[in-house]
Amino acid sequence: KKRVLSGIQPTHDSFHLGNYLGAIKQWAQLQEENDAFYCVVDLHALTVETDPKLLQKRTLLSAAQLIAIGLDPNKCTLFIQSHVPAHNQLAWVLECMTGFGEAGRMTQFKDKSQKGGADRTNVGLFTYPILQAADILLYQADLVPVGEDQRQHIELTRDLGQRFNNRYLEVFNIPQAQIIKALAKINDLQDPNSKMSKSAASMSGVIELLDSSDVILKKFKSSVTDAGKEIKYDEKSKPGISNLLTIHSAFSGKSITEVENEFADKGYGDFKTAVADVVNSELAPIREKTATLMQDPAELMRILEIGGEKANQVASETLKKVYEAIGLAI
Ligand code: ATP
Ligand code: MG
Repeated sequence: KKRVLSGIQPTHDSFHLGNYLGAIKQWAQLQEENDAFYCVVDLHALTVETDPKLLQKRTLLSAAQLIAIGLDPNKCTLFIQSHVPAHNQLAWVLECMTGFGEAGRMTQFKDKSQKGGADRTNVGLFTYPILQAADILLYQADLVPVGEDQRQHIELTRDLGQRFNNRYLEVFNIPQAQIIKALAKINDLQDPNSKMSKSAASMSGVIELLDSSDVILKKFKSSVTDAGKEIKYDEKSKPGISNLLTIHSAFSGKSITEVENEFADKGYGDFKTAVADVVNSELAPIREKTATLMQDPAELMRILEIGGEKANQVASETLKKVYEAIGLAI
């Protein structure tokens, strides 16, 4: 059995289609044959200033959505990052082994700090990938299922793990990113050249799993399309239509070519409605299940605490080896 680890930030009420197709759908599949650990990374979410009550609610909403999408707490270990103190503890050790320039080369930091402006950029955003490396290395993960935007962070994780193993002792397993190429970058419907993101300035191009069917139809209907009227996959000259084709294909289970053929003599309008339909028929039950789970927050917390105990066992074992290897007198 392989060890799988991944996480998602509770920075928004709802996950979006990119999270769903690029990451979480894989998580559900991987829990079947592997020893999978999945966490709601609430510490990472602190890089965005949030009302405390809202953060707490979003952490539960995140866990509820993960279960609604198919994560089974009896098959995988589902937990909240802050329930396992070893994440911060290992992060500090790794920070002391990371070059300043090395961290500065992370493109997510460059993008996000540019958007926020220097005044609003906190040090946590800078050290974010190192905390993420700790999340992964603590569990001796083999596979990390993520979207394309995380490739560089997983590369840093591998470098730090190898660096530690070479400098001190072979403590860490060196993980690999598991990225499904076709689904790893779902783009914003209003700006089809950039990725759909929780921290987008406007949600009008972001399909949220918890949006109502009407809102989803509206967002698809008003999505930016390209010149011409052919429904053909061409990332360069037709990024909008290509993105919609990817989404349709992921939900309908048909190949891109099959979808192109199906809509060969239809217009953009019909196609957009059809995309909304396939998406809504899969998301409607997920929305209902999420709402049902949210009616019993105490039960959700109970599930997450059980996961947290299991995670703590694995994580504290690794941390002890790390502390011994670097010469802390524990
Ligand atoms: P933010 O923009 O604030 O970082 P996010 O939308 O990237 O938020 P995360 O919680 O950072 O959400 O990422 C969770 C997972 O979803 C990661 O594995 C990430 O690679 C994946 N992911 C995020 N956006 C997309 C996307 N547009 N397409 C495919 N996968 C994505
Ligand atoms: Mg992200």
